Amino acid sequence: MKKIITTLILILSLAGCANSVPTKNISNDKIFVIATLFPIYDFAKSIGGDVADVSLLVPPGTEPHEYEPSASDLININNADVFVYTGDFMEKWIKGVLNGITNKNLEIIDVSKGTKIVNGDPHIWLDFEHNKIMAKNIAEALIKKNPKNKNYYEKNLQDLLIKIDGIDSAYKTTISSCKTKKIVYGGHYAFGYLVRRFGLEYVAAQGLSPDSEPTARDLIDLVDQVKNGNIKYIFYEELSSPKVAETISKETGAKMLLLNNLESLPKDEIKNGKTFIDAMYENLDNIKIGLDCK
Ligand SMILES: [Zn+2]
Repeated sequence: MKKIITTLILILSLAGCANSVPTKNISNDKIFVIATLFPIYDFAKSIGGDVADVSLLVPPGTEPHEYEPSASDLININNADVFVYTGDFMEKWIKGVLNGITNKNLEIIDVSKGTKIVNGDPHIWLDFEHNKIMAKNIAEALIKKNPKNKNYYEKNLQDLLIKIDGIDSAYKTTISSCKTKKIVYGGHYAFGYLVRRFGLEYVAAQGLSPDSEPTARDLIDLVDQVKNGNIKYIFYEELSSPKVAETISKETGAKMLLLNNLESLPKDEIKNGKTFIDAMYENLDNIKIGLDCK
């Protein structure tokens, strides 16, 4: 595997093929960081600030459970200064990529180091305690790569940790006032960490990955739960088709609300500077409506 990838990197480097993630800009002295998923891309940008160029590997709007890096992605990762990934439970292709890395100066960071993975659930970013660990891991990698900006990275890390603490307590306060505690999700089972943290109940139409359609029986069961539980709102996810949520909504009269699992954001929202924290506050606004909270 390693040999094949190394050869591929060599051939494609010579061929100079089209890139899907931007390559290192040699005209400035910023460090070049590639992050696999939106949450860690966003944290790396916050911490790296003006002295890092950060690129997102999984293109906006792409379902990351189904993503695999292209040959040119492999080259760009190999040429970066820092490569940040969520973990081998989310990026199942990571081993092949890491085996093919020939750049000895590339700083590689598994941000899940130190987080607690429960029931094989890969959505570790949907827990604010994990977010703090992930942010610290990213800061550590940036400092290791670029020690002269240590104080700057540490200051940015502190600012981010304060924001994470702020949103964590906003969730705690709001959710403690909710009249309903049950989230019905017409998507895949992404919010296990969040509901566990805040003592909510949660049913999802699909499993840990959105690869299989729910069966008719699953749908009937969800419709029954909504009807019998007197549930007024059902949540849908950003990327997968909202078809499942629409079906339940039609059958039950429950209204639909977006609950973004942050696996990705639309390109224009990323371009307009929406952050992970912004999107999680939007989620909280919808949880407030959906669960009837103060
Ligand atoms: Zn997922």
